[in-house]
Amino acid sequence: MKLKILFSFSAIFMMLSCNITNVATKEVVKVKSPKNVILLISDGTGLSQISSTFYYKNTIPNYTQFKNIGLINTSSSSEDVTDSAAGATAFACGVKTYNGAVGVADDSTSVKNLVEIATINNVRTGVIATSAITHATPASFYAHALNRGLEDDIALQLTQSKVDFFAAGGLKFFNNRKDGQNLLNNFKENQFTINTTNLSDFSEIESVKKVGFLLEKKEMPRMEDGRGNFLSKAIELATQFLSKDNSGFFIMAEGSQIDWGGHENNASYLISEMIDFDDAVGKALDYAKKDGNTLVIVTSDHETGGFTLAAKKKKRKDGSEYSDYREIGPTFSTGGHSATLIPVFAFGPGSEEFTGIYENNDIFEKILKVTKWRK
Ligand code: MG
Ligand code: MG
Ligand code: ZN
Repeated sequence: MKLKILFSFSAIFMMLSCNITNVATKEVVKVKSPKNVILLISDGTGLSQISSTFYYKNTIPNYTQFKNIGLINTSSSSEDVTDSAAGATAFACGVKTYNGAVGVADDSTSVKNLVEIATINNVRTGVIATSAITHATPASFYAHALNRGLEDDIALQLTQSKVDFFAAGGLKFFNNRKDGQNLLNNFKENQFTINTTNLSDFSEIESVKKVGFLLEKKEMPRMEDGRGNFLSKAIELATQFLSKDNSGFFIMAEGSQIDWGGHENNASYLISEMIDFDDAVGKALDYAKKDGNTLVIVTSDHETGGFTLAAKKKKRKDGSEYSDYREIGPTFSTGGHSATLIPVFAFGPGSEEFTGIYENNDIFEKILKVTKWRK
């Protein structure tokens, strides 16, 4: 109830302030449409996770480059606390759905996703993740499944999908399946070139129609186990590959494992993944600045771990405890997700649209509004 009152007050205030602005300037502000959209999702990342890059990264975080910042409520249709499938489906398809749903609405019907919509608009598409490509977040951008656990089925849908470029782990869902099929053959039928060893240079893939990198059986390695610059490099390669015919592109790239660091209540795992994601943000911003026609949106499906950057707890000689404000001792309040509001950062043409406080599925509507892609 309190929340409703707050929202209606802010709605009235916004209406008033819009009118005042209109009277004062007497002009309609035209928003330039971006040709390309890069949506970066850091799974399980709230403000404390983002803040950690300010204390643990050796260089200035790329997050500091954003001017247009908003907040989203991430609740799913069924629960206050969302899971990654419902969270990603809200972004990819524009609907709030039940936890576990991949690209389907509350009534289990399939809902068109951003990859399908981009394709209708002759815009090329890329999906990148540091998890398996069949995991809930990337899956919601190209597949429709009643439950996120149906990864064999999700894999089959990828081979038939409109995705032009993908890079992630998850090879076993294609070549070591319960049904015995080898889906690497199915990819060929849909004009995909598949590489299972390493990210190539652009020159090696320049002439192929569609390309997919499946570089691990399951997820990609942790940063702490030597993943290197896979995420940044995949984003760079995708922008090169998808911009080659100048038709515009949509890329979703996920830092998947920040969430897993949160579930493990493992601060060094979480922070190392977070720093890698910030590098990827920098890579996307570099492209957008050079190109001038690219909208970059950086957000998360939810927070994980109830992570905080509390002052480090220490013990005095007499055994009593105190908080040492000179040092951070990261702490967690849960092994699961939390319902805290999540920041949205936007850069480039249309980025003004992403300020304010709104719902997670509004991200989808805002992307369509600024790009003018038809459903
Ligand atoms: Mg998640
Ligand atoms: Mg995820
Ligand atoms: Zn999670």
